[in-house]
Amino acid sequence: MSEEHQEAKEQNRDEGEKWGYDLYPERKGGKRKVGWWDLLWWGDDKGEIDRQKCERRVAYVIEKSPLIKLMMDALKSSGCEVDIRRHIVCEGCEKTVTGGYDPTLNQIVVCQNMCRQDSVVQGVLFHEMIHMFDYCRNKLDFKNLQHLACTEIRAANLAHCSFMSALVEGNVSPFSIANQHAKCVKDKAIMSVLAVRKVSLEEARNAVESVFPQCYADLEPIGRRLRRNSQDMNIAYMERHYYGYTS
Ligand SMILES: [Zn+2]
Repeated sequence: MSEEHQEAKEQNRDEGEKWGYDLYPERKGGKRKVGWWDLLWWGDDKGEIDRQKCERRVAYVIEKSPLIKLMMDALKSSGCEVDIRRHIVCEGCEKTVTGGYDPTLNQIVVCQNMCRQDSVVQGVLFHEMIHMFDYCRNKLDFKNLQHLACTEIRAANLAHCSFMSALVEGNVSPFSIANQHAKCVKDKAIMSVLAVRKVSLEEARNAVESVFPQCYADLEPIGRRLRRNSQDMNIAYMERHYYGYTS
């Protein structure tokens, strides 16, 4: 481990609780607490089996999903090429989260104990790659609540409230009315902010509201909101050249 990484880890340790990294205990060199129930059935090796399964899923999704390929291309074109081994890790997390983005190490965490389906892994990778893209493109400051709110609005907008909600959250009703969609994005973004920061609902809501118009309108690098059961995912990948992602 390089000195730089060591330093970043130390910093994580100090600020972990405040910035939500206690949700990812393995970030701090610890291990997720295994409950007696897990131990009874699986012994201590389950974590390693989970990790291997998770890594296989990640590799499969990256190879097969047009959406993830689009994000990989977009990141590469923005000068932030993703090295799967270096930038994406499977770890055990607290059960309130499925994934995360750690800006200090520029790593996406896929929660191996929570992501047991390809569709969920795709959802996590896509969501966290939006954060990675924003961090790369805008030098996002994750400690700034408005910056965080903005990237969560974008992740909710581009994924969860349309296409991905059907896969990940089992929500089958289409959001046909514009303000219903906007409300979904706001609610989801507020929940995401609350999941990783110890702020009040009021603070989270104010941060989301204060940056909503410009962040909701920013559809890079997808260029369109993905609709459920549509060809949008493939079309967005085919049209990636129009957005300057030429790899
Ligand atoms: Zn997020």
